[in-house]
Amino acid sequence: MRRDAQHKELAMERIERLFSLASGCFTEDPHLANRYVELARKIGMKCQVRIPTPLKMRFCRRCGTFLTSGANSRVRIRPDGKGRVVITCLKCGTIKRYPMIREKLQRR
Ligand SMILES: [Zn+2]
Repeated sequence: MRRDAQHKELAMERIERLFSLASGCFTEDPHLANRYVELARKIGMKCQVRIPTPLKMRFCRRCGTFLTSGANSRVRIRPDGKGRVVITCLKCGTIKRYPMIREKLQRR
């Protein structure tokens, strides 16, 4: 069990690293950024690690594109008092809604 936990921790580190690589190379090579996302998702599935929501918001679940606000995604904050973020993938049109995590963390 302990080994399994370590394994998952390592997988999580790799996922986080892949996402930071993706955000670093997106402007120069969006295809490479998408590859990093693909790899991160594969690691997540293989090791049964859930990709944390802040990272999930960075890619489109449907087409796997690494999303950058203003470049290939549109981020809207719904002014309905519920504090939800609406992210639209401009490539395939998929709309995803997320709770405002960052805001919650700041309030704590
Ligand atoms: Zn998409």
